Amino acid sequence: MMENRAAKVLQILKQTLALPAWTKSKPAPFETLVITIISQNTADINTAKAFETLSKRFEISPKALVSAPLGEIEAAIRTAGLWKAKAKTIQVAARCILEKYHGSLQPLLSLRLEQARDALMQFPGVGPKTADVVLLFSANQPTIPVDTHVDRVAKRLGFAPEKGDYEVVRQGLMALFKPADFLAVHLLFIAHGRKTCKSQRPLCSQCPVNAFCPSNGKWDTI
Ligand code: SF4
Repeated sequence: MMENRAAKVLQILKQTLALPAWTKSKPAPFETLVITIISQNTADINTAKAFETLSKRFEISPKALVSAPLGEIEAAIRTAGLWKAKAKTIQVAARCILEKYHGSLQPLLSLRLEQARDALMQFPGVGPKTADVVLLFSANQPTIPVDTHVDRVAKRLGFAPEKGDYEVVRQGLMALFKPADFLAVHLLFIAHGRKTCKSQRPLCSQCPVNAFCPSNGKWDTI
């Protein structure tokens, strides 16, 4: 059964890959939103640098960032790609939170999952992945953000249809795993995708879950 295979894969990934220590803490929702906007199509190291520079220059709060000169936000996050668009998205989100939610995302995050997702996605520039990251990391809401690694690993493992879009993959994974494991699934699939189940040439012969993967060895003859 697919559920048993999924449970086995997760168990092995938990044993072979470490979860980062910060997962035990719950980051502030607005910080998570800002980091996730900065991280779009950007390497982790550049995201971290951009966020650190922004944090040194401004308090990471809707009030502080709405009144910050846009050019200074742009300059602070310049190590991330698309910094002009991202600075604008951050400032527009900060303004929405101030105007519609009195400066706090907390009431929005307490809504039921789908309502909260829809409300977050009303912010210009905030798509389903950003909304899901904020909800999972900062509100313990039961969702699984699907980034490029999660999408690839889920499909190769046969946990989502090959041509499934974001929502199909998210729903497929949520149906297979327990909500208590959603954060681990998200983080471990990313780590596994980076280390072993690489985009171009997955290292199937070294893969700890190859006995449970229908794509095992597909690349051997390519
Ligand atoms: S066996 Fe290969 S395709 Fe399957 S999860 Fe492992 S690395 Fe990815």
